[in-house]
Amino acid sequence: MAEKILEVKNVKKYFPLGSGKLKEGKPCVKAVDGISLDLYEGETLGLVGESGCGKSTLGRTIIRLYEPTDGEVIFKGQDISKLSRKEMRKLREEMQFIFQDPYSSLNPRMNVFNILAEPLLAHGKFKRGPELEAYVKDLMEKCGLPSYYCYRFPHQFSGGQRQRIGIARSLALNPSFIICDEPVSALDVSIQSQIINLMMDMQKENNISYIFISHDLSVVKHISDRVGVMYLGTMVELGDKEEIYANPAHPYTRALMAAIPLPDPDKRSEMKLIEGEIPSNVNTPKGCKFHPRCPFAKDICKEKVPEVKEIKPRHFVQCHFAGEL
Ligand code: SF4
Repeated sequence: MAEKILEVKNVKKYFPLGSGKLKEGKPCVKAVDGISLDLYEGETLGLVGESGCGKSTLGRTIIRLYEPTDGEVIFKGQDISKLSRKEMRKLREEMQFIFQDPYSSLNPRMNVFNILAEPLLAHGKFKRGPELEAYVKDLMEKCGLPSYYCYRFPHQFSGGQRQRIGIARSLALNPSFIICDEPVSALDVSIQSQIINLMMDMQKENNISYIFISHDLSVVKHISDRVGVMYLGTMVELGDKEEIYANPAHPYTRALMAAIPLPDPDKRSEMKLIEGEIPSNVNTPKGCKFHPRCPFAKDICKEKVPEVKEIKPRHFVQCHFAGEL
C-alpha cells in the first residue's frame, strides 16, 4: 500500500474584507472553511467545483503560498503550517506548483535555460557548468521541448510549449508533490491531452503525487485516482474516481455531473442543472451551504451543518440524507 504523503486537517483560509486584519465579528471571505483530505504517494486527487468554490485557495494554502487561518497541513509527517520561512524554503524542493497561465508565471526576460536553471542554482543542486547544462537540456527533452530551444524566451513559444516549460520547471528539483492549478484550461483541447499525458508519464516515472485542480470534470476523470468536490469552501463529496462518477451521492455533485455534455441523448441525466447563483462566501448560508440551491432541501438543512458520512468504503459525503437520495 502506498504511503500517505500529505494530511490536510480542518484547514481554513479566511481573508479580511477591505483593509486591516482578520478580527472576530468582522466580516471576512471564508474561501476555505474547514477542509480535510489525505494524499498518497504516486496518487492524483482531483479537486472540482465551480469558480469561487475555494479550490485554488486551498491549493495555495496547502503549500503555504497563503498562510492558513487555522488547521494543520502534515507533509511527510511534519506539520508545515508551523515551519519558519527558512525551513519552508528547504521543503519547497519537494512541493511544487503548476499554474494555469504559464506565461504570467515565467519571467519574460529570462531564456528557458535560465528559467530551468534558476531553482537548481538557488537550492545549491548544481553550479554553473556543463553538468547543469546537460541536466537542463535532458529535462527539456523529457518534457517534449527540443533542447536547442533553450536560449529562446517565453514569448517565442506557443501556449502548449509554455506549459511544458512550466512543467519542466516544476520537475527540476525532483519533487514528490505538485499542485496543478487548472494547468490545461488555457490550452486548446488538442493540446490539453498532450500535456495531461506528459504529466501522467512524469508521475509514473518519478512517483509524484498530484493535487489536480480543475473545473473540467472530463479532464479530472481522465487523470485522477480520487476526486473531491468542493462547494463554498467545503468538501461536499470525496471518493474513488470510479465511484464518484458512477454513483455521485451529493446533490451538488449530481448536478455537476449532469452538466457534462454526453454524446448519447439517452444517457443524459434527468437531474436538472443547478439553479441559482453560487452564494457569496462572505455571508454563507446557515446549515448546509448548498440548501438554497438544493432540490432536496428540508427544514433541517437550513439549520444544521451536515456531518460527513462514509456511505461506502472511502466514499465520503456531507449531506443529511447521504445514501438516501
Ligand atoms: Fe441538500 Fe440538505 Fe443534503 Fe444539503 S443537506 S445537500 S440541502 S439534502
